[in-house]
Amino acid sequence: MRVTFHGVRGSVATPGPATIRYGGNTVCVEVRTVDGSLIVLDLGTGVRELGKQLIRAPLPDPIHIFVTHAHWDHIIGAPFFAPLWRRDAHVVLHALSQRAHQRLSKNVLFDGEHFPVRAQDIPAHVERPPFVGSSVRIGSATVKQIQLNHPGGADGFRIDDADGSSVCYLTDNELAPPGPCTTSSDDLARFAASAGLIIHDSQYLPTDMPHKHGWGHSLVADVLALGQKAEARALALHHHDPDRDDDALDRIAADSAAWAREHAPGMKTLAAAEGTTLEIAP
Ligand SMILES: [Zn+2]
Ligand SMILES: [Zn+2]
Repeated sequence: MRVTFHGVRGSVATPGPATIRYGGNTVCVEVRTVDGSLIVLDLGTGVRELGKQLIRAPLPDPIHIFVTHAHWDHIIGAPFFAPLWRRDAHVVLHALSQRAHQRLSKNVLFDGEHFPVRAQDIPAHVERPPFVGSSVRIGSATVKQIQLNHPGGADGFRIDDADGSSVCYLTDNELAPPGPCTTSSDDLARFAASAGLIIHDSQYLPTDMPHKHGWGHSLVADVLALGQKAEARALALHHHDPDRDDDALDRIAADSAAWAREHAPGMKTLAAAEGTTLEIAP
């Protein structure tokens, strides 16, 4: 499986010289399965660049899209995803939870008010399969859903490919929320067990607390502990705080790598950066 980050920023896009190395686009991740199927995870502003790349070649048919939840930073790029404006494009919007299915049927962005074009006037063939359960087969892979700890709810995903490679996409998620958990860290670690790569919301540092406790995002230290517990082979810190500049993310990446060398030597860590492609081995 091949994973490419097109947007790694949480909450709001942060263009400018201070974020040029890691990137300022909000979250969007491209996954290519071993049989060449395309899975797009989240439609933040990063999906615009992915769309531009896709229309330069014959379009994958279909383009599979999974959105974790409908907060702006995860959907705001959708109107600027170039394949939507092509009549020959076939886009499938998957919902692996009842809540996701209800959200998709609302068409908040394409209601004629938030964007000039209404959903029914989009040229591409946009398919919304009925909700049938928490997993679906996509080409050579299976995608499974898990509920995350986030205000309003969010879906995390695990993709297992035919060659044994696996990726977990867990954002937005607060691993240690105040009050009861929707899904405990132990359950998440089981869901992500032995993953080739975990991509996890890592927005906060202890200096953000206690003010942002309960906002639905995780401390980097809690994410590292999850990766260790799951015995993941690689862990990508993702959904970076909009106030974290490149130098701050360099420090987080270096501190995380040092922690992993000592506590989880089998796990590679990285701070996700726009444009980075990772080959996930079986
Ligand atoms: Zn977010
Ligand atoms: Zn969110």
